[in-house]
Amino acid sequence: MRNKIAYLPRIDQKRTISFRCHEGISEQTLGLLNEKGRQYGLEAIFPFDIRKIDVAQWVNLKCRYGCSQYKANWSCPPATPDINEVRTILSEYSTALMLVGSQNRSDFYKDSNRNRTDQVKYWKGTVSLERMLFLEGYDKAISLVSGACSLCKKCAYPRACRFPAEKRPTVESFGIDLIGTLKNLGIEIKVAMELNETFKYYSIILLD
Ligand code: SF4
Repeated sequence: MRNKIAYLPRIDQKRTISFRCHEGISEQTLGLLNEKGRQYGLEAIFPFDIRKIDVAQWVNLKCRYGCSQYKANWSCPPATPDINEVRTILSEYSTALMLVGSQNRSDFYKDSNRNRTDQVKYWKGTVSLERMLFLEGYDKAISLVSGACSLCKKCAYPRACRFPAEKRPTVESFGIDLIGTLKNLGIEIKVAMELNETFKYYSIILLD
């Protein structure tokens, strides 16, 4: 019997990608990201200066008191970098991307099962865009995702994460005052007073 030979897919050797540093992002790459982001329900992706990010100690208070994910999820404190580490990490970047998604289902604030499905979609979408950026030469790109990781129905914390390749910190776990940051970007958001109001997701990718 003849041995079967498995061939690896051929790599396109015509396209050479260099690693980038402090180059920002081109309109073309942004266009590709927006196109891919739409497949995951993201409605806008735009770059901004990292200095617009507001980091504050009080954000951690909101994680510690009043949130069920504290000490219960790998994407949340205290498993994530503390505020001093965060300040150092941010000082190593100059540009970030803001990813915006929204939900305007009438049952959004009631139906936690459907919310998890959407949460997983946004989470996977963000990590997949980060991967795409890596392949475009942005080796420093890393996602800070909206909401706590919901890839598992119940996080394995403190036992080992089941999907470590997709594990990322949340925006809030980085001590980022999201509302203050959006204000710095000229985006005003209002408190939702009605169950049928649109819910917005905001994730960040630290780029270069
Ligand atoms: S992948 Fe699962 S175990 Fe890992 S952080 Fe997310 S929910 Fe927790």
